[in-house]
Parts: sequence; structure tokens; C-alpha cells
Amino acid sequence: MQKDVKQILKEFWGHDDFRGSQRNIIDTILNSKDVLALMPTGGGKSVCYQVPAMAMEGICIVVSPLVALIQDQVNQLKLKGIKAIALTGGIPHTELHDLLDNCLYGNYKFLYLSPERLQQSIVQERIRQMNVNLVAIDEVHCISQWGNDFRPAYLECAVLRDIVPNVPLMALTATATPKVVKDILHNLNMERATIFKDSFSRSNISFQVRHTEDKLYQLNKYVSLTDGSSIVYVRSRKMTLSLSEFLKKNGIKTTFFHGGISKKEKQERLQLWLEGKVQSIVATNAFGMGVDKPDVRLVIHYQIPDSLESYFQEAGRAGRDGLPSRAIMITHKEDEEQAKRQFLGSLPNVDFVKLLYVKLNNYFQISYGESIAEPLPLKFNVFCQRYGFNANMTYQGLRILDQNSVISLSENFSERTSLKFTASKSTIFEYLEKHRQTAPIIQTILRTYGGITEYDTKLNLHLLSRKTGIGEVNLKKILQQLDADGIATYKNATSDLEINFLVPREDDRTINTFAYKIKDFHQVKHQNMSAILSYIDNSTRCRSAYILDYFGEKASKICGTCDICRPTELQSLEVLKRGILELLEKKPLTSRILEQTLQAAQQQVVMALQELLEDELILLTNGNTYNIKK
Ligand code: ADP
Repeated sequence: MQKDVKQILKEFWGHDDFRGSQRNIIDTILNSKDVLALMPTGGGKSVCYQVPAMAMEGICIVVSPLVALIQDQVNQLKLKGIKAIALTGGIPHTELHDLLDNCLYGNYKFLYLSPERLQQSIVQERIRQMNVNLVAIDEVHCISQWGNDFRPAYLECAVLRDIVPNVPLMALTATATPKVVKDILHNLNMERATIFKDSFSRSNISFQVRHTEDKLYQLNKYVSLTDGSSIVYVRSRKMTLSLSEFLKKNGIKTTFFHGGISKKEKQERLQLWLEGKVQSIVATNAFGMGVDKPDVRLVIHYQIPDSLESYFQEAGRAGRDGLPSRAIMITHKEDEEQAKRQFLGSLPNVDFVKLLYVKLNNYFQISYGESIAEPLPLKFNVFCQRYGFNANMTYQGLRILDQNSVISLSENFSERTSLKFTASKSTIFEYLEKHRQTAPIIQTILRTYGGITEYDTKLNLHLLSRKTGIGEVNLKKILQQLDADGIATYKNATSDLEINFLVPREDDRTINTFAYKIKDFHQVKHQNMSAILSYIDNSTRCRSAYILDYFGEKASKICGTCDICRPTELQSLEVLKRGILELLEKKPLTSRILEQTLQAAQQQVVMALQELLEDELILLTNGNTYNIKK
């Protein structure tokens, strides 16, 4: 018997009612019809398949492209007391059997998996035996080569139609142009699906492009004049640090974030920003996924992103609470060339991908015909330097290998600490006698890791720290000392990328199977770049309408708040400055009085005063009044 979906929504999610198309989508699925759901980021897609799956007997299969997304969703469900399992990369064969058995006999409600997992025959066989109530394919734009994140393995999702033929299918995405929608329907054989499209319009966001000679000045101005949290997006890790330093120097509480910092640092910085202890976070696109902060008032793009899809997704993190917010692209005329160089100038060709693949295998000492099942840490810069590879091209090449399921790539900072005792038993014993303070720690290590006197052994510092009560930093110092004293060899390696090899090494043959797709990859990258550049260069159409049009939606009205609809913002600033000067000619005044007399918004007056101060046309007196500089 079906349970009441509204009650389920309240009981497990705590929401009183459905929003947007959620209810209609759920009803369509409960009537056993296929659905394609197009909803903007934050629109509430997961509820659309999770609630009906809870209402029906059986298990829901969810395909999702990113390990981090899968883990996040499974954790969220577990917190609600719902039984869910994740099948991602790096699971040994025996464990895989157990997990699949759990799905069959263990009353599980959700099985999340990556498209690569779906290609395994054991996984397909077991799904065939399960009582599947719904198949959900998340981020379904990955199935289209016109999408921003094409993953050929996604095409394999169609196999689910044969494995569980009478089960309704729900495909979901937040970025789908008309071309992509057509591809999705065709590739998943779901031409008869009901399509629901919630508006992508974000009417509370004022989209702006600010062309300027002095980007830093504008950055500082916008961030410091914003009352509330902001995100500044850049396209390189180095830039996150330099802009964050710049904002700090200007008195703004700021931190930075990118894929190469440790998990702990990421969590700490995110927390500081979420709690409002820092106002601004300067980040690469590694920041944002799963971050649900409602009151971001400003998102700045300081460098041009690779596509309008990425731009809209990142800019859309402003104003989730529906209150007025701004998404500003600050740009200089040289930026366009720089973006083209960065994203297009270094697109790898087939020969480079072949070379990269061979070197990658050599780097990890994988021989022909072999594969390694565990995730391998890669220090990206070291790798590029060793083989004299261009960093951009290498990164794009790794992405091509990832998209074509040769490897799976995740941006993850990790640290590998290992130790091997090299001294003889009697020497170690003497050492323990002499170093009474560290002896208990050394003994714990020896007891915890059986073979550590014979093999180089990976240490879990977190575990050791818990066992010994010594902080990780101090533990490392002790290990270093053991190395220096000739008792053990200690290695500590950090990495910022993690690679899983998904197929055995066959050098050129591995690459030849998809070589033709590398050309398509180039074409898509060029189209994406030209779409974002046209958005920036556009000087006649409402920015919101322009974006909606790109996503195949007709804007019912112009936004009235972007820089095209309101070219007046700049002009009015000039008018305001003149008005202020006229008033100050008569007598010194406070900003409050200026606001009231000129009937202007506080932010605008502050901005005008700041520019007049910088142009040295006025000065601020001790009594907090402004005066004409004579
Ligand atoms: P998406 O995957 O579309 O980006 P999520 O499924 O992560 O969005 O949902 C975004 C946010 O909206 C979450 O915080 C979620 O709890 C909330 N949400 C979803 N549905 C509802 C609803 N019916 N009422 C209130 N909040 C909702």
C-alpha cells in the first residue's frame, strides 16, 4: 500500500509542503510514468525521487556522477534513519558482493551508484533480482555530449531499461539546453516521458558585468559595500590566496578555498564562512557543491569561467533565501584572451592523451595489462614537472581520461604517512629504555601494526593520536625523530588529486577506442567558451533573459535590475557625486544628512563618497562630516 507522500515529506524531511513541480513529478511517478525533471540548483530535486521511493515497496536505484555527491546523499538519508547504500569506486570484489546482498535481503530503500559501477555484470545481475520501485538518474545532462560534463559511461544508464523494464524512470538535471534535453530523451529511450520544467529564473539576483581598468578596486568596492556574505570565484588556486590577502589588507574578513587544501582546512574555512565569522570566501570552482547557505548577498566572478552553465551554477549560489542579491562579473578587456588561452589554448589532442596515459601508468609503476584497484594519490605539480607537461593541458587530459572511464579523478587533498622500523630488536629496546617519554608511543605503534619491522607500513595518524592522546603534529615530530635517530624510515607524502584506474593498461589501444570523441570534446569546449563570452559582450539584452534563453526558457519580462536594464547605476552614481559636491560646497555634512537630503540609498551614497575621497575631491573631518577639499 502506498503511504501518503505529504506525510513522508513532513516525517523525514520536516517540510510542510511541496514546492514548484515536486508534487506533480511525484504523482506522475506514482502513476508509473517516466519523468524528466529540469529544476534550477537548489530547486529540491532529491525530494522528487526520494519521497515516492519511500512511499512504495522496494528499492530505488540512483545513478549519480560524483563520489562526493553520492556520499553526501547517502549520509543525509542515514541521518534521517533511512537505509541507503553507496557503490562507488575502490570497493573490493568481496565487499561488493556483501553490499549487493544487503540490497536484496536487507530492506534497503536506496542504492546509489556511479555509471561505471553499472557497467559491471555482477551489479546488473543483482539489480535484476531486486524489487526496484524507481530508477533515478541524477545530473542527467552528463549523458549528452553537448552537456558541460559529458561522461560516456552515462550512456550505459539505458541498460536499466532492459534490466528493470516496467519500473518508472526519473531523469533530473539543473542544466539543460534544448539540445541536451533532446539527447537525454533519445539516449534514455524516454521520448514519452512527461517533462517538468521549473523556471530557472532567479528574479532576486541582479546579474551584472562590470568592465573595468581596475579590477582590484572594483572588487574591494563591491565586497566592502556588501552587507552580508560573499563568494569570489577565480580560476586558479594561486589567485584564491592572493585575492584573499588583498581583501584582508583592506580590512575585510576573508578566507580562501580550493581543491588542494586539506579536508580539515576545508571544513574549518567553510564553517567560518557559514557562521559569518568571515564575510568573504575566495574560491575556485571546487567550492560550492552541496553548500546550502541561504543568505549569500554577493557572488563575484573575478575571472571568466569556462561556460555559461558553470557561471549560472556558481552565480546562483547568491540569494537562495529569495532576498535581493547580486552576481557580478568583474572583467578587463584582456580577460577574454586569457580565458581562451586557459580553456582552449591547451586542449589536448589524441597524441597528448596517449602520452599522458602512458606516463601516468609509469608514474605509478603499473605495467602493461595491469590495473590497481585502490585510489592513488597524485601530486599534480610534481607529476607535470617530472614529465615537462603543461599544467592546463594535463588537467584537461586527465578530465578526458575521467570522462571516458579510463580513470576516475577526484580533487582531494590527502596525506600518506608511512613508517618502517629498520633497527634491530635490541637497538629498538635500548632506544625505548633511553627515551622513556616517547616509549609508550613507540610501543603503541609496534603493537598496532604487526609487520612494521618488515614492511613500510601506512599509518593512520588519527587513530594513533586517539590511542596515545598525542596530537597529530607532535606525533609527526616523534616519527621524524625516529628517522633522524636511525631507528626507522619515515615518509610523509601529500597529494591533491586522487586517481582510480578503472581499466587495465593497454596504452594506445585504451585511448584509440574513444579517440574520435576528443574532437567532439574540442567542439563543445569552443561552443561553451563562445556562449560565456557572448554573455559578457552582450550590451543590449537583459542579462536574466539572456541566461534563460540559453536554457531554452522564454523570459516573461525583463529583470529590471541587471546592468543592461539599469544602465543608470553608473550614471546615477555620477549624478549623486555631483549632488554631494554641490551640497558640500555650502557646508560640511554627514553621510546620513546627505542620504536624507538627496533621498538616495545608503549603499549608493557610501560608494559615491568613497570615490570622491579617492579622487581627493572631498575629505572626512574628525567630526565624521565630509567637506570639500580646497
Ligand atoms: P537540488 O538538488 O535541486 O540543488 P536539493 O534537493 O539539495 O536541491 O534541495 C535544496 C534545498 O531545498 C535543501 O535544503 C532541501 O532540504 C530544500 N527543500 C527541498 N524541497 C523542499 C520543500 N518542499 N520545502 C522546503 N524546502 C525544501
